[in-house]
Amino acid sequence: RIVFVNGEFLPFEEARLPIMDRGFLFADGIYEVSAVVGRRLIDNEGHLTRLARSLGEIRIANPYSDEEWVGLQTELITRNELDEGIVYTQVTRGAAERDFAFPKEATPTVVMFTQPKSILASPQAESGIAVVTVPDLRWKRRDIKSVALLAQVLAKQAAAEAGVGEAWMVEDGAVTEGSSSTAFIITRDGTIVTRPLSNAILPGITRRSVMRLAQEAQLRVEERLFTLEEAHDAAEAFITSASSFVMPVVAIDGTPIGDGKPGRLTRRLRELYLDMAREG
Ligand code: PMP
Repeated sequence: RIVFVNGEFLPFEEARLPIMDRGFLFADGIYEVSAVVGRRLIDNEGHLTRLARSLGEIRIANPYSDEEWVGLQTELITRNELDEGIVYTQVTRGAAERDFAFPKEATPTVVMFTQPKSILASPQAESGIAVVTVPDLRWKRRDIKSVALLAQVLAKQAAAEAGVGEAWMVEDGAVTEGSSSTAFIITRDGTIVTRPLSNAILPGITRRSVMRLAQEAQLRVEERLFTLEEAHDAAEAFITSASSFVMPVVAIDGTPIGDGKPGRLTRRLRELYLDMAREG
């Protein structure tokens, strides 16, 4: 297994980072995850645009151009013979003597690795997943894809302990998003509803593509807050993310959604996204 660390492709076992890395000490860094299908990166322009934006928001200079990023990602995919899975990219402010304010001189730390994963053929997508809800304990800049993920770790652990696939986070009675996914519901009149972009959620790249595909298929899409009550009453529900594409949600806190099976429109949206991924 080959990983990329600070300009070098290395065997995983040989990769080393200093303990003073600010990603480790302060979670002072950001990350991205792009899916790979048939050795090709899916929706990658969106991920690189968001990477650049996240870096800008926390004032780390982007170490590479988009073209250079793609070159590095592609080389990593080739070296690891990754047919299907994800490419993980992380940039931190770098290593320096521990002090909260930005160091005067630090070179950003860049780490990339791949993980094989079967995304197209997913047994979970056939049956759908259940979710539990948890309070959204995160900070107020959730639009930045920060590596500070403790609230999401605790949310996902709550899901794991409940034996379900995801946790939906709730704030002021409204669903914000999943711990590592965007939350959608489909109302009984067939309207696809997801929360509008703001500092309260991460602007999902899969979210954007799925909304575009839905609109192209003449489906109604509404960006607005939805309450947990509304979600319980929905005809269908699903989540989107780079590593799961479109994943049906069939129960919330133990209560089935609709007939407790993946919904018709959800399955159609998953197919539309899979078609896009297969075609490239
Ligand atoms: N929201 C959160 C909190 C996430 O962690 C993720 C996955 N990174 C998403 C939404 C989905 O974003 P994307 O479709 O870009 O993977």
